[in-house]
Amino acid sequence: MAKIFCVANQKGGVGKTTTTVNLAAGLAKLDQRVLLVDLDPQGNATMGAGINKAGLKASTYEVMLGTADVAAARQRSEPGHFDVLPSNRELAGAEVEMVELDNRERRLKDALAVVDKEYDFILIDCPPALSMLTLNGLCAAHGVIIPMQCEYYALEGLSDLVNTIKKVHANLNPDLKIIGLLRVMFDPRMTLSQQVSAQLEQHFGDKVFKTIIPRNVRLAEAPSYGVPGVTFDPTSKGAQAYIAFGAEMVKRIKKM
Ligand code: ATP
Ligand code: MG
Repeated sequence: MAKIFCVANQKGGVGKTTTTVNLAAGLAKLDQRVLLVDLDPQGNATMGAGINKAGLKASTYEVMLGTADVAAARQRSEPGHFDVLPSNRELAGAEVEMVELDNRERRLKDALAVVDKEYDFILIDCPPALSMLTLNGLCAAHGVIIPMQCEYYALEGLSDLVNTIKKVHANLNPDLKIIGLLRVMFDPRMTLSQQVSAQLEQHFGDKVFKTIIPRNVRLAEAPSYGVPGVTFDPTSKGAQAYIAFGAEMVKRIKKM
């Protein structure tokens, strides 16, 4: 059975999608079977995996509403060597349409149950909001990976996310844990980055992943080619860091 992880942070632009796509590709390089679920109507993970979000036959939207199943909607990321449940802006409508449905927090969980034997990892790219879509991600997952930039405001907002995770754990999904905080877009030359990074380690101890993802322009360039950074330039520092993060995750799930 797959281990299911949400990549979540309600702050925008903190590296959720870059992390989801490159962790998926990094895990695939380690021979793990991976499904990436794009749970964001922006469809950035879909595009970053090399799938055109315009003109999808079926997507996360249909899966959430129960009009298509995952097996029919998923596509292959050829450059990434993983499967993708793609999305586009239609998914924004699901937020409203799901209000009338039964079991609306567990739509994604139930849909993934049908395919979870086919994968080692299912990674869910969440939108930048604590919305019904994100709630579906949290209800489906065993754990949350929180990407963070080491800057002054990084910790602001983290308590809202942590409280939401605690509430979901208490009321809806007793399996849910914070797996770890991932330092991303890290610039070692900045004293502030070093300070915030040290603070994170002090406060969160083991919950901070050992791997640090550096700021690396190759990771930022890759999406415009529809290729994960890990595949686009495997020798770049960014790609190497995400492959190392994949190895760290493989080790972690053995202890779960
Ligand atoms: P949103 O909240 O809108 O979904 P996000 O949290 O998914 O955003 P990304 O889209 O992954 O964030 O990243 C935001 C921007 O930062 C993108 O332009 C991306 O290419 C860039 N970026 C992410 N990680 C890195 C990195 N390690 N080095 C350089 N650029 C990066
Ligand atoms: Mg994103």
